[in-house]
Amino acid sequence: MPAVLKAPLVVEFPFTRSLGPVQSAFLTGLRDRVVLGVRTGDGRTLVPPVEYDPVTAEEIHDLVEVAPTGTVTTWAWNHHPRRGQPLSAPFAWVLVRLDGADTALLHALDAPGPDTVHTGMRVRVRWAEDRAGAITDIACFEPYDGDAAEPTGHSGEFGDPVTGIVAAARLDYTYSPGRAQTAYINALSERRNVGERCPSCRKVYVPPRGACPTCGLATSEQVEVGPAGTVTTFCIVNIKAKNLDIEVPYVYAHIALDGAGLALHGRIGGIPYDQVRMGLRVEPVWTEGGRYPDHYRPTGEPDADYETYKELL
Ligand SMILES: [Zn+2]
Repeated sequence: MPAVLKAPLVVEFPFTRSLGPVQSAFLTGLRDRVVLGVRTGDGRTLVPPVEYDPVTAEEIHDLVEVAPTGTVTTWAWNHHPRRGQPLSAPFAWVLVRLDGADTALLHALDAPGPDTVHTGMRVRVRWAEDRAGAITDIACFEPYDGDAAEPTGHSGEFGDPVTGIVAAARLDYTYSPGRAQTAYINALSERRNVGERCPSCRKVYVPPRGACPTCGLATSEQVEVGPAGTVTTFCIVNIKAKNLDIEVPYVYAHIALDGAGLALHGRIGGIPYDQVRMGLRVEPVWTEGGRYPDHYRPTGEPDADYETYKELL
């Protein structure tokens, strides 16, 4: 039994969001070194602000400035800061209730060690040198033993408000495909398609997941399928994907490899997009060093009879 594969994977994309009037004022305020909260119907001040009263669900927009000093209400020590976190050296995650606010804001506290942090300790904002209208305009909090700072009396009105932000979403993780897909991937490295057959319903799963979801049984019998197959259904792609060097329009299809009990996905090439059809017989095209077929092209055989693939749509 060969070792089960695993590999680091990263999913990353920029998430663009527009800001309503309240979040716009909050982030624009940070750019100008002012912290704004919002007043609820019962007179509480929420920082960070929200657009709807959490009790009554009424829309709220009464902005009120709070101080850049506050009190830690709870905390946790971060021993190993990760990429993209506010500080590169170990720090505390803290909830800080700023002076004048009734709720607490999550941020980082720059402190020499966990024994120097406690609930109730006084802190103040350390502003980032370059500020653009984002929560990172607060670089972090730092210990502070003075009195509450006075708000500047800002009205919450700005001449050039920030109206949108781009948040880079990123997920780093280790993926292990498990025993069945490891065998599938290893076979692909020899340009072979190996699925697994269910011992009960005899369906051949490609790629195999290690179990038959219909019968609830583990699969282990390996079955080589393909390399040719039949287009069971398809779509024409007209939108060019970022970072993907394929001219549109092109066809993406469900392809039932010969002997497989379900269809897999693949791009169809070597034929004009408007001539692709259900039943078209195709074979894989590999590129040098490719770990899976680059696309599938027509074999030149007559089309498959609908009866042979109607269960594989
Ligand atoms: Zn089954």
